[in-house]
Amino acid sequence: MSEGFNELRWNPLLGCWVIVSSRRAVRPWRAVEKCPFCPGAEETGYGWDVIVLDNKYPALKRDARKSREGVDFYRVEEAYGAAKVVVETPEHTGDLDTVPFSNLVKYVELLASLTEEECRDSRIEYVLPFRNKGEVIGVSLTHPHSQVYVLPFVPPRVKREYEMMRQHRAERGGCLICDILELERKEGARLVYENRAFTAFLPFFAMWPYEVHVYPRRHIESLTGLEPEEKALLADALKVVTAAYNALFGFSLPYMMVFHQKPCRGYEGFHMHVEFYPVHRSADKLKYPAGIEWGGWVFTYDALPEEKAEELRRAAVKAVENLKRSGYKPRGEVSSGQAGE
Ligand code: ZN
Ligand code: ZN
Ligand code: FE
Repeated sequence: MSEGFNELRWNPLLGCWVIVSSRRAVRPWRAVEKCPFCPGAEETGYGWDVIVLDNKYPALKRDARKSREGVDFYRVEEAYGAAKVVVETPEHTGDLDTVPFSNLVKYVELLASLTEEECRDSRIEYVLPFRNKGEVIGVSLTHPHSQVYVLPFVPPRVKREYEMMRQHRAERGGCLICDILELERKEGARLVYENRAFTAFLPFFAMWPYEVHVYPRRHIESLTGLEPEEKALLADALKVVTAAYNALFGFSLPYMMVFHQKPCRGYEGFHMHVEFYPVHRSADKLKYPAGIEWGGWVFTYDALPEEKAEELRRAAVKAVENLKRSGYKPRGEVSSGQAGE
């Protein structure tokens, strides 16, 4: 039986690649009888705390085959790369806030070493770790896990961010992310949580109601540039942010979490960061990207970001209490929301 096709098709209208894989449609949808990530499953075995697996139905692979040749500017390439899964805990339920802290540190270390290893392959341009949580986001397996896409091109969004960083540097002489941090910290109103190395805040320019960005205050280009202590402090920030999300409405909040880092080659001066996009706008309403968002790439924000940040700070205060009760002592402080901290 055919192993299927994994190809990139060029979208000439938007100037971006679409990853086409012909066997992805058969991947299991939630109701598999046995969790493939629980200890003792065929793929996982026993005796691990955090584990990296190959995606069983990868969108990209190193032996990718294309179904056809391109024609004229309808370009077709092999979807060369990889899709990995990182299972953060043997526990079947939970989120980053309930995963043991030592696992989380290991998780960050694993993402960094995956980035380094995969970038050694000269055909790989980008390593994109992300985490989708919740049924509304279409997560087919509920066991806590992240994914890592190993791509033969730089994602357009990262290119755009870099282009804006480059422009900012040309006009202002500084790093855009460092300067955003400065503005956010000066104003204070949208800060959520801060430890010695990382600041978590709802950006002035948020597109999703409860969007949160986590930036290292030191100018670090990628996960591979984090010092051991910074990896632990990133783990701490991720733990507190997810705990705040889960304390916000009293249920486990679905979100997408994405790591933006420097591509494998070039892009000097990129400043790494993490972005969270939860899809809720209230306890019972979703912010569905619809006509204006998808059709125009124009986002509407139905509140003031400063109000939403205040809600998140209140949730973070509750979250920190919960974490302390469960035996975890956060490394930083929930922001007061005041200027000039
Ligand atoms: Zn499981
Ligand atoms: Zn910077
Ligand atoms: Fe970003």
